Amino acid sequence: MEKPERLIDENGRRVDGRKFDELRPVKMEIGVLDKSDGSAYVEFGGTKVIAAVFGPREAHPRHLALPDRAILNCRYHMTSFSVEERKPLGMTRREIELSKVIREALETVTFLEEFPRASIDVYIEVIQADGGTRTTGLTAASLALADAGIPMADLVAAVAVGKVDGQLVLDLCDIEDKYGEADMPVAMAPRFNSIVLLQLNGRMTPEEFRKGLALAQKGISEIYRLQREALKKKFSSVPPMES
Ligand code: UDP
Repeated sequence: MEKPERLIDENGRRVDGRKFDELRPVKMEIGVLDKSDGSAYVEFGGTKVIAAVFGPREAHPRHLALPDRAILNCRYHMTSFSVEERKPLGMTRREIELSKVIREALETVTFLEEFPRASIDVYIEVIQADGGTRTTGLTAASLALADAGIPMADLVAAVAVGKVDGQLVLDLCDIEDKYGEADMPVAMAPRFNSIVLLQLNGRMTPEEFRKGLALAQKGISEIYRLQREALKKKFSSVPPMES
């Protein structure tokens, strides 16, 4: 993908026509898979992710089980066809790192102590990548955990902010991520106003960092609203009676 001449045009519009504080079109759906205990599909523009949850179930191998809480296993994976340059089949270092930070973020909201000796397995599959896959993955994973009925203090909602052509922007797409000056994924448990993941790739001044965080918070409150709407949509409808 070639670098465009400018990432922000003279009218302040971004490469895909968005304003600086606009999210990409978002889709969320809960319970999209039959074989897992909980699942969710989340799309932010060209980034498409499925998350599936199994558990709580007895931890295997048994010697890994913890006497006082469940283990949360988390696997973030990009399919080979999700990116332009075919990704190698196995888990890359990047995917191993992202699995870890996503697990740590989810652990802060999940009541693992309610399920001693059990494991809860979270799988995140990126089926198409266009920037912000870790944040979309986290947003989907917390919905899948809720769909599986795992008790949680809150959902996790996430988005990246960044700096392109010297300006702060919300929800970077791949071109902005690649050719921008900074990329800062942020995840929050919005009910507690607490940050559960924050990374920064690139450089920002302290002032830009503060403003960027406020921009992320604004996006996260919208994402949180959409998450609750998606959950309500599934759980407020009564399934038809079996005859
Ligand atoms: N990407 C890619 N191949 C890779 C990893 C990433 O093409 O092996 C692209 C993909 O579009 C991804 C973007 O680069 O969304 C930004 O990747 P980053 O590591 O910043 O993570 P993300 O923003 O997806 O959380």
